[in-house]
Amino acid sequence: MTQAFLIKYAEIGIKGKNRHYFEDRLVHHIVRSLRDVDGQFEVTKEYGRIYVFPHGAFDRDGVLQALQYVFGISGICPVSVIEDTEFENLKKETVQFMKELCPEERPQTFKVNARRSNRKYPKDSMQLNADLGEVILQNCPWLKVDVHHPDILLNVEVRASIYLYAEEIPGPGGMPVGSNGSAMLLLSGGIDSPVAGYMVSKRGVQLDAVYFHAPPYTSERAKQKVVDLARQVAKYSGQIRLHIVNFTDIQLEIYQKCPHEELTIIMRRYMMRIAEKFAEKDKSKGLITGESIGQVASQTIDSLVCTNAVCTLPVFRPLIGFDKQDIVALAEKIGTYETSILPFEDCCTIFVAKHPVTHPVLSVIERSEKKLGEGIEDMVQKAVEEAELLVV
Ligand code: ATP
Ligand code: MG
Repeated sequence: MTQAFLIKYAEIGIKGKNRHYFEDRLVHHIVRSLRDVDGQFEVTKEYGRIYVFPHGAFDRDGVLQALQYVFGISGICPVSVIEDTEFENLKKETVQFMKELCPEERPQTFKVNARRSNRKYPKDSMQLNADLGEVILQNCPWLKVDVHHPDILLNVEVRASIYLYAEEIPGPGGMPVGSNGSAMLLLSGGIDSPVAGYMVSKRGVQLDAVYFHAPPYTSERAKQKVVDLARQVAKYSGQIRLHIVNFTDIQLEIYQKCPHEELTIIMRRYMMRIAEKFAEKDKSKGLITGESIGQVASQTIDSLVCTNAVCTLPVFRPLIGFDKQDIVALAEKIGTYETSILPFEDCCTIFVAKHPVTHPVLSVIERSEKKLGEGIEDMVQKAVEEAELLVV
């Protein structure tokens, strides 16, 4: 008996012509995720199923862990592959499989669920269910049959080889990255935006990112923190092109010319405008932010109206209805929380007003922006041109 893994994926959205594309993307990401795991692996697509076959010794936990980063996987079933399909051997292997799965101390119920895809096999599915059930009962007297609610559903798939599996470990769900275009994530060093990126990426969207910093007001360590966050998100989303924009001149200009209580909103509008320019360059079809209604002054509905008004691309705000504690729980789950709470300054917190507007009016904000000199366009242009690009 050799070990392998059957990869299950959700069927939604992958009917018809899309199916092959979806599966090929998934195979690609599985191969990528296993690159750093000890062992040699072959990933195959057969009969509408994806398998991972290890060749030789391999790190089982490493495989299970790596696959948790692959969106599109709904479940992972460790399978035992029996090459000698002769029925006497199948019986022997089945008993051994069940003994390992359910040790004697624990009385449990089971059901055999055989599927004969290989028509030439001498027993059909019904016969296999009955005969294998019987041999299990004879050899494992602590087990009982329950056809309605079994503790263990033993799947027996008869093909060129026979596959046995009973366990399904939940995968991350979602859709394979790249199956739904790409979007530009506004990534700060906070808790929310990495989670927002994760959520959109989970729907199959490839990510690029933009980070605004304000040296020398923000430090190299603050920037490193964002790079680290991008790397953590990239474990799920695959490579991220991270644009790092020097926002200092623009912020100072806004600070000097505009009412201080409107600073954050106007800054946010410039972030969105610049993010769109990068989105255009990278052929991204949307922007992603970590905003959640009412979380801070710049995220009231009125504030969101003002920020949104400068965007022509759709803005995806997957956390819009989340409470902070739910976002924190997700951040912990995906491994970004520890980095996000490191106490480094953010460009928004440096030029922040004591009493920011909570109900800004778009026409008023637009009038304030007119106070910015003509130079602002050049500053935007320069910020885009001189941005640093890191591929993480
Ligand atoms: P986060 O935890 O994501 O920083 P937050 O609760 O601190 O969010 P804000 O600071 O109001 O909220 O930012 C709202 C959103 O604007 C962020 O989720 C992020 O998408 C974007 N954003 C804020 N600051 C930056 C920045 N310096 N660079 C890139 N995007 C930013
Ligand atoms: Mg923030």
